Order: sequence, then C-alpha cells, then structure tokens
Amino acid sequence: MKLSVVVPCYNEEAVLSRFDDAVRAALDRLAVPYELCYVDDGSSDGTLARLRGLAQQHRGTTRYLSFSRNFGKEAAMLAGLRAATGDAVILMDADLQHPPELIEKMLDLYQLGHDQVVAKRTRHGDRRLRTALSRLYYRAVNTWVDVELTDGVGDFRLLSRKAVDALLALPEYNRFSKGLFSWIGFDTVTFDYRNAAREAGETKWRLGSLVNYGIDGMLSFNCRPLRLAIHAGLALASLAALYALWIIGAAVVGGVTAPGYVTLVAIIVGLGGLQMVMLGLIGEYIGRIYYEAKRRPHFLVKESGPVREGSPAGEGDAAALGPATDVSAAPRTL
Ligand code: UDP
Ligand code: MG
Repeated sequence: MKLSVVVPCYNEEAVLSRFDDAVRAALDRLAVPYELCYVDDGSSDGTLARLRGLAQQHRGTTRYLSFSRNFGKEAAMLAGLRAATGDAVILMDADLQHPPELIEKMLDLYQLGHDQVVAKRTRHGDRRLRTALSRLYYRAVNTWVDVELTDGVGDFRLLSRKAVDALLALPEYNRFSKGLFSWIGFDTVTFDYRNAAREAGETKWRLGSLVNYGIDGMLSFNCRPLRLAIHAGLALASLAALYALWIIGAAVVGGVTAPGYVTLVAIIVGLGGLQMVMLGLIGEYIGRIYYEAKRRPHFLVKESGPVREGSPAGEGDAAALGPATDVSAAPRTL
C-alpha cells in the first residue's frame, strides 16, 4: 500500500522545513511507500520557494501545487485530496500542531480496517473561555442540526481511498469539511491526543472568522435552521396572542388603563431584530444557492511540481499534476 500526506500551507515559511523533516522522519520509520502533497494556498511569503526546494530535494516522494491566490484551507484540502494517489490519505496542518508521531498509530488503526481514523485533540492548554464557548457551540449544533460534530475533532485524520473518493464525489462549492467527514460516515475510529502549541508563524484565525466558521457549520447541511425559525415564529405569535387576551381581560375587568409605551417599544424592537435574523438566515441559504449556481471552480492552480527535467529553472510544471483548474467531471486528474 501507499500512504499520501496532504498538507495545506498558507504563509508557513517559518515552519515548513522543520515540518518536512519531522514528517519524513516519522514516515521513514514506517517502511511504507509514501508521498507528500503540499498545497500552497496563495502564500505571500517564501512558502512556494520552499516547496519548490523540497520537491527538488525529495524527488519521487514530494509534490506540490500552488494556488493563484488564497482560496482557504477547505479548497487547499480538496486540491490535496484530488492530487493524492495513495491508498490511504492523511490530512495534516503544516504548523506541527498535529504530531507526526501519530501517523504510525493512524496507520495501525487503518490496517485494522477502519476507513476514517480521527485524531481528537484534548482542550488541554486552551483558554477556559474558548473551551467553554466551543463546548456550548457543539452542544447547540448537535441538538439542532442533524449532522454530528464533535468538539476537538478537526481535519487531522486518515482517510481510506474509499472515504477519499466519497468526499471527492461531493461537488458542493460551500465545503465545511468537518461536516462532510461526518456526513460520509464509514467505519470511523477516534483517539485522543494532546495538542501541541504552534511551532512558529501565527494562526490564521481571528475571532470574527471563528464566528463565521461557526455559522457556516450550522447552515451547511440542511434546512433545520429554517425549520427552527418557523418554530420560533409560531412560539412568539402564540405568546403575543396570549398577551393580547390578557390585556383585553384586564381592560374588561378593571377598565382601560394607561398604555405601556415601554412594553410596546421593547416588543417592536425585539421583533424587528428577530425578523432581521430570520431574513439573514434565509439570505444565507439564497447566497449559498447563488454560489452553487455559478459553478465556479473551488480553486485555480498557478503552478505545480515536481519540475520536469529540462523545464526552465525555478518554474513549476503546470502539466505535472494535470489541468490548472479543477474540472468537476474529472476529479482525480489533478
Ligand atoms: N491554511 C491554509 N489556508 C488558509 C488558512 C490556513 O491552507 O487560508 C493552513 C495553514 O497553513 C495550516 C492549517 O491550514 O497548515 C491550519 O491553519 P492554522 O494553524 O492557522 O489554524 P489553527 O491551527 O489555528 O486552527
Ligand atoms: Mg494551527
């Protein structure tokens, strides 16, 4: 069998060499044929140059592709999965937060017949507020939205060829991998590991992008949130009807009293806000339909390697990994 390791990299110049050394050391110990597929997600630092260097240095076991701009980690993982030719594929971050020593364990579990081997990080060392918010979020998603998401489970995992092909057969433009992994199912096994701190460089997550990622997670699978909106609307309308009955009753019994302006304003503002949220919700779904309808490629490749003998120095060979755009009809040609 052959093992592929897919690594999305965005501005990872600072750790890339260290990462490559560590992963290669771990892989060499296994005595299994392997390949490393690096995807440069439109980095603005020297990541691409490093990748060219690595591809030169380790011909035969290293390939890379480079996007025309930053398309996001989801697109980079998709490109890597398409490029991977192994019987099993491991997805890993470039920042050494995913310990390469675990590859061996993943492979053992794969050989026991599991199609997805998932490394689940413990929240050891995270800030308490962040941990609590994550817990709350996952509980909410699991109760309200039908796809099972687990706290601490990320993209660090091994996928069998069967699972990779299943993922590649999902053509959607809005990709939320955490959910897609769970959606495809198959025989999945999870084990815990302690997350390491980032070795160098910095995280690409800001609070705002985390919130948006959370919203994506809620909306990416089904129309459950719209159904929830209907329920909320019905509940509010019933409350309003009860309140109206109560006011009428009070007026009949005690006569008309001074009207409650404050109550009125609070209700108007509150309902206005709620309506905006619901409109936004519907808008999000329409926006997703809009993006799907355009059928744009998930990414554009500007360069890929290894460089063939005889091509101009320093330039990757665009033909080495297939066509420059992702053509959905031919998912594995890249
Ligand atoms: N990454 C990427 N494209 C992006 C952002 C991140 O390919 O637009 C890569 C990044 O290089 C790293 C992995 O995705 O290998 C995880 O990113 P990061 O470490 O910033 O996320 P965190 O570990 O903080 O969740
Ligand atoms: Mg990281």
